[in-house]
Amino acid sequence: MGIATVNPATSEVIKTFESLTDAEIEIRLQKGQEAFEQYRKTSFEQRSRWMNEAAKVLEEGKEAFGKLMTLEMGKTLKSAIAEVEKCAWVCRFYAENASRFLADVPSQTDASRSFVRYQPLGVVLAVMPWNFPFWQVFRFAAPALMAGNGGLLKHASNVPQCALAIEDIFLQAGFPPGVFQTLLIGADKVAPLMADDRIKAATLTGSEPAGASLAAAAGKQIKKVVLELGGSDPFIVMPSADLDAAIATAVTARMLNNGQSCIAAKRFIVHTDIASEFEHRLVENYQALKVGDPMLPETDIGPLATPGILKDLEDQVKRAVEQGARVLIGGQPASQQGNFYPPTILAEIPVESAIAREEFFGPVAMLFQVANIDTAIQIANSVPFGLGASAWTHNPVEQERFINDLEAGAVFINGLVKSDPRLPFGGIKRSGFGRELGIQGIHEFVNIKTVWMK
Ligand code: NAP
Repeated sequence: MGIATVNPATSEVIKTFESLTDAEIEIRLQKGQEAFEQYRKTSFEQRSRWMNEAAKVLEEGKEAFGKLMTLEMGKTLKSAIAEVEKCAWVCRFYAENASRFLADVPSQTDASRSFVRYQPLGVVLAVMPWNFPFWQVFRFAAPALMAGNGGLLKHASNVPQCALAIEDIFLQAGFPPGVFQTLLIGADKVAPLMADDRIKAATLTGSEPAGASLAAAAGKQIKKVVLELGGSDPFIVMPSADLDAAIATAVTARMLNNGQSCIAAKRFIVHTDIASEFEHRLVENYQALKVGDPMLPETDIGPLATPGILKDLEDQVKRAVEQGARVLIGGQPASQQGNFYPPTILAEIPVESAIAREEFFGPVAMLFQVANIDTAIQIANSVPFGLGASAWTHNPVEQERFINDLEAGAVFINGLVKSDPRLPFGGIKRSGFGRELGIQGIHEFVNIKTVWMK
């Protein structure tokens, strides 16, 4: 399937789209460049007004935008509406803080005056995934546009209507035409775009192969990239943890977005002293989840976004079982129509097996038992990823160990790993590089210009 809306709950093809031709891409590139040349001169006050207006458009349309997300990629409607609200938050956050984050930074040197000035780079290409079809885009666009850059969005091919709606939100908010545009194109057009002089930098959220391919294309052209890639986050539970809170969070942490989140807890690493209680209660909680139509308010878990993702997950679970995993719950795709897969828990996967180091992109939890904190940290760090990590303990010495020794872009102690406009977000190792959100996020796509005056 090319660029299309296909309802993942029913497999019905709702609408198909033609990819833009090279001539149409050229028109948008030119329009983006011309818009940027004017837009870069606008004040922070003006950009803030537009960005606050974008927040309003989002809030006023949250039901409709939420339904669009649910229709195209299957997340529950309640979580889709919450996603729209979070997008309004990130718009307001940067509308309020961008001028402070990007103010001149004076420095005492041998000059009579020297300082750093942050300036926009130009048009930035954003290659985005379908799993948080609004949030992933807004967390790039809000800081990038507030910094004075232009944005060109190449969204995932299964969320074209979300992509078009986002372009329209920025237009409705009053941003000049061309400052933010959507390109309905396939992944094959990304490398040629990186070679175009009018694109100054790029960001990609998605899988490792996509990230590597974009980074290679950008590297050839000496262009800056930010990569937000996959993860297999550990969720470590030690004996001093508040078990009620840990178990409640373990459900959300794995099942959020039908299990398709980069920062989902994918590996539960539990101390032997509490392992059997944790396992038993996790099974109970997963059993209670309602799988079904994502538009219904009582549904906890909707379908996976595409048949391909369902197939990959099915294959992974089969391989895990072949390598020794014990299925505690789930383990077989549901027989109903659509891409449904039930909540699944796999225990006793050999730590050294290849499958234990893979990312499961669906509602499948892996459970490991450990006798001490050293083994917990060793297992946590044994994957190629380093995105987030959640550790549950009230022992201050253990807390410090986790903060210092977990290989991750973020460590949350006694809490759910989540993104927050006020804090930087990103990974290390094969989870990518660069940061989004916080002050660090707005500094990614700027020229950090040194000014020296005598
Ligand atoms: P994907 O296949 O990599 O797709 C993501 C985007 O990249 C889509 O727009 C896709 O376009 C494009 N793309 C695919 N191959 C490309 C290539 N060779 N060159 C340039 N662009 C290419 O990712 P996915 O499987 O849909 O998304 C799931 C992955 O994203 C998971 O690994 C997840 O952990 C990760 N993710 C990471 C974060 C984070 O913040 N770190 C957040 C969310 C998701 P088409 O749709 O047209 O193929």
